[in-house]
Amino acid sequence: MTSATIVLLPGDGIGPEIVEQGRRVLDAVGLRCGHEFEFVTAEIGGKAIDRIGDPLPPETLAACRDGSAILLGAVGGPKWDDPSAKTRPEQGLLTLRKELCLFANLRPITAHGQLVDASPLKREIVEGVDILFFRELTGGIYFGDSGRRQGEGGEAAFSEMVYETAEIERIVRLAARAALGRRGKLTSVDKANVLEVSRLWRQVAQRVMEDEFPEIEYEVVLVDAMAMHLISRPKDFDVVVTGNMFGDILTDEGSMLPGSLGLLPSASLGESGPGLYEPIHGSAPDIAGQGIANPLATILAGAMLLRHSLELVAEAEMVEAAVAGVLDGGHRTADIAAGGESLSTEAMGDLVVAAVAG
Ligand code: NAD
Repeated sequence: MTSATIVLLPGDGIGPEIVEQGRRVLDAVGLRCGHEFEFVTAEIGGKAIDRIGDPLPPETLAACRDGSAILLGAVGGPKWDDPSAKTRPEQGLLTLRKELCLFANLRPITAHGQLVDASPLKREIVEGVDILFFRELTGGIYFGDSGRRQGEGGEAAFSEMVYETAEIERIVRLAARAALGRRGKLTSVDKANVLEVSRLWRQVAQRVMEDEFPEIEYEVVLVDAMAMHLISRPKDFDVVVTGNMFGDILTDEGSMLPGSLGLLPSASLGESGPGLYEPIHGSAPDIAGQGIANPLATILAGAMLLRHSLELVAEAEMVEAAVAGVLDGGHRTADIAAGGESLSTEAMGDLVVAAVAG
């Protein structure tokens, strides 16, 4: 039996609607498998700004630090979009990731057989795709020195891309461990033909793989080539590890493969402490409050939480199988119904809960 405190951060827009379904499914898993899950709800994002002027209130950060894992909906919306505002909802999320040292962003890209015709790519390319991306999240060009100076051709700007050996080692290790539990293949993506920082990345990754994971099939691919391979032969990839900016771009490209944003979860992990789990979509303010949002990405984020933070692999697979079963049964929310009959957020949650309960 596992006891865990799961912190729920519903956030803004559709966040509360979808996190509630994620909670119900985790609750059903606890009941069926005899685990004790305690849920604690805290504020983040726009709602927290409205109430106390801080997108990450101290009590929210404290609850997250004390929790076993965190399930987040989404933050943001038009109400808080003013670019000149002193505080913005996204700052809450960025601060949380920084405070908890969540340096690895995991994004599974899996194509569900029933939905691949919604993909912009051909069925034969997409069907069977199962990739797990590891994007470094707290280093690289987004965190390097940047500024402006006067150049000979007018004003110039620079952004520095820096990676230290330890930063590369820890993300490559995490990715390699994940590959061990999957098809045993790891692809490291860099730009070592041009960038010195990528040459260090390649050298360190190679050493970690040779010394610590000789049983894994390891390859390196240049980022420009990867952009092509990802849409021409995505089935060839198992686990992919890369730096912050390359990962940012490639995971967005990858998210188009399955053809439905409403099904993709993500996780942000550190070396220890609670992980943060969320859908990759935003707060969908255009449909908030209507009870029609697709809760499946959040429910699948819950499955990732079970696997990566609570080490409950069979339970994670149970949730994933429940979602696949519901989709195989032809059940759809409006975003994936292609104009056909659609279910409410809660009705979709009911079906997954029932499938988990057995
Ligand atoms: P979005 O992902 O919220 O919405 C894009 C489109 O997809 C919309 O038409 C929306 O209705 C639809 N959609 C998204 N999720 C859905 C779901 N679960 N079910 C059904 N339809 C869904 O992206 P956006 O409109 O660019 O951003 C809206 C707000 O969300 C912005 O304030 C943005 O900053 C914020 N945002 C937050 C996060 C986060 O919290 N991690 C991520 C991205 C965007």
